[in-house]
Amino acid sequence: MVTKRNVNVGTIGHIDHGKTTLTAALLRVQAAKGLAKVKSYQDIAKGGIVRDKGKTVTILASHVRYETENRAYAHIDCPGHVDYIKNMITGAAQMDGAVLLVSAVDGPMSQTREHLLLARQIGVPHLVVFMNKCDLVEDAELLTLVELEVRELLTHYGFPGDTVPVIRGSAKLAHDAPSDPAASRCINELLHALDTAIPDPVRQVDKPFLMPIENVFSIAGRGTVVTGKIEQGTVRSGDAIEIVGLTDQTVSDVVTQVESFAEVLESGEAGANVGCLLRKTRHDQVHKGQVLAARGSVTLRRQFEAEVYVLKKEEGGRHTPFFDGYTPQFFFRTANVTGKTHVVGDAAMALPGDGVQLQVDLLQPIAVSQGDRFAIREGGKTVGSGVVTKVTA
Ligand code: GDP
Ligand code: MG
Repeated sequence: MVTKRNVNVGTIGHIDHGKTTLTAALLRVQAAKGLAKVKSYQDIAKGGIVRDKGKTVTILASHVRYETENRAYAHIDCPGHVDYIKNMITGAAQMDGAVLLVSAVDGPMSQTREHLLLARQIGVPHLVVFMNKCDLVEDAELLTLVELEVRELLTHYGFPGDTVPVIRGSAKLAHDAPSDPAASRCINELLHALDTAIPDPVRQVDKPFLMPIENVFSIAGRGTVVTGKIEQGTVRSGDAIEIVGLTDQTVSDVVTQVESFAEVLESGEAGANVGCLLRKTRHDQVHKGQVLAARGSVTLRRQFEAEVYVLKKEEGGRHTPFFDGYTPQFFFRTANVTGKTHVVGDAAMALPGDGVQLQVDLLQPIAVSQGDRFAIREGGKTVGSGVVTKVTA
């Protein structure tokens, strides 16, 4: 049997527009075909607890799985608006694409806009719209108007509003009669749209090699070995690499051996913990916090913009807001760099529990790319969690 490609998706949209009902309906319709296991609306609505990678932010979210003929979908549904903000910023579950729910009765609302903006900012690359509750709207013209409004909004937030698939339907009717062809048609249309509008995600192993350096060893008679967990790509003996970050000088070298637990490997892939023996770099020329990367694949950066979730007191975060000029530590991978912040917005203030936009100037350059995630720490505790939305210098 061929293994189906895994694709991560989720429901986003304003409260009460039907995200959880749709999630349950997707499971029921696919379960009727033997392509999912049913989970009740109540169970999905409860949400499980996930923590972000830095083990700092607690997010309520339900994970469900269903398949189509071609793909296996891992789907996330969050109970509350703040859970979406946290999830999208911290990447507790990253989405290759999202289903934006819009109630045909209400049209786009405040949280519709907020989720769209976040999806744009943090790089949810593809959207499909489900115009829900069409069973409550008799006037076909009204549906057309709502669809137009949604398409304009998509364009406003930088998505291709003219071409994004918009499926009209009723999650509730599909949920209540999953085997009824008329009721389940909208779900089948939605699944077809997911299969076609979201391209296969690029797998981590297919990206350029990158490994954050965790440790540096000097081995008598052999040279310098750097260790870490490969974040993306593949490394082989003979590969041209560079050592990047913390200083303005980038060191070029060649990996002469890849090993894991004293065993020599032919290659190391994303996810593996490895040691790389370097041809000529001395152990005092390479440090924890730098990255080992395919030559020419990363650039040193000092300035970026980010979306940040500021942890609440109960989450171990600050008790008080911070303001423009706040200068905490930024943790990117294994690097720990001081950065000066500018809080975007009129208030120029970030309250615990808020999602905010920051402009950051790092005191030392590191490898930073759009989509990279980081933690903000102060006095040894994590006070924020963020994602790079734009690299500016
Ligand atoms: P969420 O907050 O976006 O997850 O919304 P829910 O899925 O909890 O739905 C909110 C309410 O809308 C619930 O009472 C649902 O039964 C109802 N609802 C959801 N989808 C539909 C639909 O297609 N038609 C109708 N009439 N009601 C719906
Ligand atoms: Mg819900």
